[in-house]
Amino acid sequence: MKHGTVGRHSKAIHGGNDPAAHRGAVSVPIYQSSTFAFPSAEEGAARFLGESRGLIYTRLGNPTTQALETCVAELEGGCGAVGAATGMGAVSTVFWGLLQQGDQVVSTRPLYGPSGVMLERRLSRFGVTTTFVNASEPGALAAAVHPGTRLVYIETPANPTVDLVDIATAAEAAHGAGALLVVDNTFAGPYLQRPIEWGADIVLHSMTKSLNGHADVVAGIVVARDTAVMQTLREAAIAYGTTMDPHQAWLVLRGIRTLGMRVERAQSNAQALAGWLEQHPAVEWVRYPGLPSHPQHELALRQMDGPGSIIAFELRGGVEAGRRLMNGVRFITLAVSLGGVETLIEHPASMTHKGVGEAEQRTQGITAGLVRLAVGCEDPEDLRADLDQALAGI
Ligand SMILES: *Cc1c(COP(=O)(O)O)cnc(C)c1O
Repeated sequence: MKHGTVGRHSKAIHGGNDPAAHRGAVSVPIYQSSTFAFPSAEEGAARFLGESRGLIYTRLGNPTTQALETCVAELEGGCGAVGAATGMGAVSTVFWGLLQQGDQVVSTRPLYGPSGVMLERRLSRFGVTTTFVNASEPGALAAAVHPGTRLVYIETPANPTVDLVDIATAAEAAHGAGALLVVDNTFAGPYLQRPIEWGADIVLHSMTKSLNGHADVVAGIVVARDTAVMQTLREAAIAYGTTMDPHQAWLVLRGIRTLGMRVERAQSNAQALAGWLEQHPAVEWVRYPGLPSHPQHELALRQMDGPGSIIAFELRGGVEAGRRLMNGVRFITLAVSLGGVETLIEHPASMTHKGVGEAEQRTQGITAGLVRLAVGCEDPEDLRADLDQALAGI
């Protein structure tokens, strides 16, 4: 069933679900089977030839995983999607599926730590070079793209500084050189931002974050705008074995049904907390796309349906104050990850972005005292009270 014209909540709730195809089951069943029986030798051969669309083997396709793929493809406005075992599995599917020796990638910084490390230290071993440009610097991306560029790889909002990249401008630069634009849409998610509408060719997610939203599964997905690219990516996922398990897919499907409600709630909490933090005497600065003080606030209003739930901020007391704050919170949890119903706090310079290296952290704006707050769905007054008592203790 296609839901192309319905709203975002309806897509999240009904996407990929067809009770008639599953004996009336309203929740898509978990097809916990590695392989599928063929009714005849002829039919088995036809499925392998692609002449028949029946099921073969779970790495090649599974009904539970397919339901999730359809749901996310509809939310993003893509032609299809392929699930991955982790978010990094989704990143790998794109890189290993589309790049070859001699290709250049142009990417923005900051980036999710391991994605940058993969480009810089792993793909470089196979003759792929990457040019990194500053995410928020207008024109830098277009200047770095040339006819040897195969992919332009961006993340917006970027992790952990919440800098934005103008997707439409990036798409124009990529397409001008015959390259594809890939967007890691993990931070915003399809409820708040659909990069394909702005010209992106491929969108990927760590579904570990807001798509699942309950901090109980790791998973990823890749969505493509058109069928030829989708086919290449699906074949790569199957060949490299980055595909996901049906039980994992079911957990994400269960989480995704409440995507809109969770995102709305976390976002309204984040907006209130960001405004409050900005006024707090212990806080040096706050970076949140929903605040007029964000240097790209205008872009956020244009490109996103809302500023999301991640706040970056720095305390006047720098690293030491940040450490006391993280040790002082009671209710808010000191842990990496984001997009869940629970509020998490972490220190990028020593945790998620440790692998980036100190000098590089500075050029990317990841200051030593930067604290990342991934706001969840608790009562806003409880979150504020917890931060208030922890800030009083520094
Ligand atoms: C978490 C994350 C990833 C990696 O996802 P995993 O599920 O941990 O493999 C990639 N990109 C972004 C922006 C992330 O936040």
